[in-house]
Amino acid sequence: MKTTLIIGAGGVSRVVVHKCVQNSDVFGRIVLASRTIAKCDLIKSDLPDADIETRSVDADSVDEIIKLIEDVDADIVINVALPYQDLTIMDACIATKTPYLDTANYEHPDEAKFEYKLQWARDEKFKEAGIMGLLGSGFDPGATNVFCAYAQKHYFDEIHTIDILDCNAGDHGYAFATNFNPEINLREVSSKGRYWEDGEWIETEPMEIMQVWDYPEVGPKDSYLLYHEELESLVKNIKGLKRIRFFMTFGQSYLTHMKCLENVGMLGIKEVEHKGTKIVPMEFLKTLLPDPASLGPRTTGKTNIGILAQGIKDGKKRKIYIYQVKDHEDCFAETNSQGVSYSTGVPAMIGAKLMLQGKWSGVGVFNLEELDPDPFMDEMNKQGLPWEIKEMEV
Ligand code: NDP
Repeated sequence: MKTTLIIGAGGVSRVVVHKCVQNSDVFGRIVLASRTIAKCDLIKSDLPDADIETRSVDADSVDEIIKLIEDVDADIVINVALPYQDLTIMDACIATKTPYLDTANYEHPDEAKFEYKLQWARDEKFKEAGIMGLLGSGFDPGATNVFCAYAQKHYFDEIHTIDILDCNAGDHGYAFATNFNPEINLREVSSKGRYWEDGEWIETEPMEIMQVWDYPEVGPKDSYLLYHEELESLVKNIKGLKRIRFFMTFGQSYLTHMKCLENVGMLGIKEVEHKGTKIVPMEFLKTLLPDPASLGPRTTGKTNIGILAQGIKDGKKRKIYIYQVKDHEDCFAETNSQGVSYSTGVPAMIGAKLMLQGKWSGVGVFNLEELDPDPFMDEMNKQGLPWEIKEMEV
């Protein structure tokens, strides 16, 4: 029987655990480990009949992770802790020759860089260890990368432009809260925007570019251009691409709060002195904000995330839209989690399932668009994230 080691016990982890249990013929025994074991026990209490062992681990320590992997004899490690832990967990996987998967690129706590450089640099080590590392297997990055690969495989000879369109039309009733880890979320949305055109990165001020997109089952929403990490790998892996951008919707209340917090320095990620103690403003803000994992019972509405691709097929122009709509309340009924955690956790489970089944295989580190999109797209339909394709007028 296989052993699946899941590291991290937050909002996304809860969904991964539920979905791995639903697919226990592939995942076998589950070991759920995190810094605070009480959070692992809380998730385990959702699923009293499942084979789940809980452990505590400091995932900033390579040695602790190695010991844990060896102790439990893990067949795969699913990293749903924070991006700060990506490198230590990858290094422990290299040392123990254990396949690895995560949902977000490595970040240094003191500097928001949003790049795969340090993870791609471990490709050789993964090859020498004879193991696969799957990077960014959430929704975006993750399912959006697979949508691009699917469009490339079945709909185009060449894709020229891609817009990734991410809408969360959920309402949690708070004036301000984030749907995943506040530190990671606010670093992302308060940074400069960036998109890629004709071989160059073009930088914008935060939220400088806005367009309205009519999201099926949601309606028209203001969508703001952000830099998002999947752009970096898609630019490398989708041949013939001339432009790629990423847009995300934000409500006015969220934007107003964010602007105020930024203006008074509360989004800072460098230490400041407060009454003789050093604090990081963003970390302090995190302690004040609602825990994203607690938003599940109060969130209503839908998410809709997709890609709009334009290019050429058989000499003719073509434009297609691939998207996925999910209802927050359905996610909560199934997994005790809101839709953003759900739509991240399900693709993490799917990536790991395809690796354990050998349907996705290889040695080295991979972004999702480098692999065959078909089995992933089939699993999305079966595992609660059914998608649609629309042929659009060019
Ligand atoms: P949470 O903050 O809810 O959970 C993070 C978990 O990691 C917590 O249980 C935390 O423990 C644990 N953790 C943090 N540091 C350590 C450490 N040093 N050792 C062990 N455990 C640790 O985050 P989310 O569940 O919202 O997000 C999880 C991941 O998913 C993040 O990397 C996020 O960026 C990514 N994500 C990806 C998306 C995508 O579509 N690709 C979308 C949304 C999120 P404790 O509570 O004790 O600190």
